[in-house]
Amino acid sequence: MKIAIIVRSETLDKCTGKGCLQAYFQRLDSFATYADDVQLIGFTQDGGDLEKKINKLKDLGVDVVHLSSCIRGKSDAYEALARRLSQDFAVVGYTHGKFNGRTRQAICLDKGGAQAGTKEQAED
Ligand code: SF4
Repeated sequence: MKIAIIVRSETLDKCTGKGCLQAYFQRLDSFATYADDVQLIGFTQDGGDLEKKINKLKDLGVDVVHLSSCIRGKSDAYEALARRLSQDFAVVGYTHGKFNGRTRQAICLDKGGAQAGTKEQAED
């Protein structure tokens, strides 16, 4: 399983990505259910030439893209971005913290755009 993380460009001006990376390397929060064979292939931000980056992630065989918790919390484009990415990847709409964030619940989509089932939803 190959995954990538996309974070909010404005936040990355002052964030090192520690929360995302710590959650990934310690298999916490949105990364808790991955098996040992998961590989983090890319870590990038949502600005610049995003379509070029999407194509690169496709070439690299990425299966799942995580949108960062700061995109979920602060970006008006969160849902549109999740929908666009779901054309090519499964999407998990947060990185660290809770599935039900302070502002909104994470959007999780299968590749193709169908709502994905999650462990958290199953427990609700
Ligand atoms: S989700 Fe947290 S750790 Fe990741 S880039 Fe945003 S603020 Fe930084």
